[in-house]
Amino acid sequence: MSSYNLTESLRQNGEFKALVGKLSGQPLSQCYQCGKCTAGCPVSFAMDVAPNKVLRMAQAGLKNEVLRCQSIWICASCSTCTARCPEGVDVARVMEVLRIMAGKEGIPAPGRGKDVSIFNSAFLRSVRRNGRMFEAGTMAAFNIKSLHLLREATTGMHMFIKGKLRLLPERIKNKKEIDSIFTAAVKERGGEL
Ligand code: SF4
Ligand code: SF4
Repeated sequence: MSSYNLTESLRQNGEFKALVGKLSGQPLSQCYQCGKCTAGCPVSFAMDVAPNKVLRMAQAGLKNEVLRCQSIWICASCSTCTARCPEGVDVARVMEVLRIMAGKEGIPAPGRGKDVSIFNSAFLRSVRRNGRMFEAGTMAAFNIKSLHLLREATTGMHMFIKGKLRLLPERIKNKKEIDSIFTAAVKERGGEL
């Protein structure tokens, strides 16, 4: 029968906190939970864990909990939190690093975060393939993967009738530059985007 090892648990928590700090380049310890990041976050109402609490979980090294919360996927990377932090903590960057870590650990985005993750992938694939977003293709890929087959179908039909939606993708001229940006980003992240 395995017993709980407090020393080992604390060591792992400390390692996780140090890794988040290193990858994000942010002084996590300086967060004193004033809550200004959360007060300014435009999407905190949709989150399961408020941004300041995400910071607290990262500080405490609660890897399993923080990498499984919806909030890191709901975050829109608007950087309002970063601009408001009196300690200069780039909260948006921490959120981004947590998303990357969750991806590398193979932890699927939970709840509403799952749709965000699927949309992110569909969007990035479209930009990589065409150099710009192909709306119809992106929505089709998103709807199929998220199993919401008819989502926004009516809106799409209205846009098509008004000539706002192309049925074929339009590629940019110098797509090689886009390819090199994606290649560099994938290399930096050590895997898929
Ligand atoms: S604004 Fe900065 S110091 Fe305040 S809770 Fe958020 S991260 Fe922490
Ligand atoms: S970057 Fe994310 S956490 Fe920060 S204010 Fe914007 S949506 Fe909220």
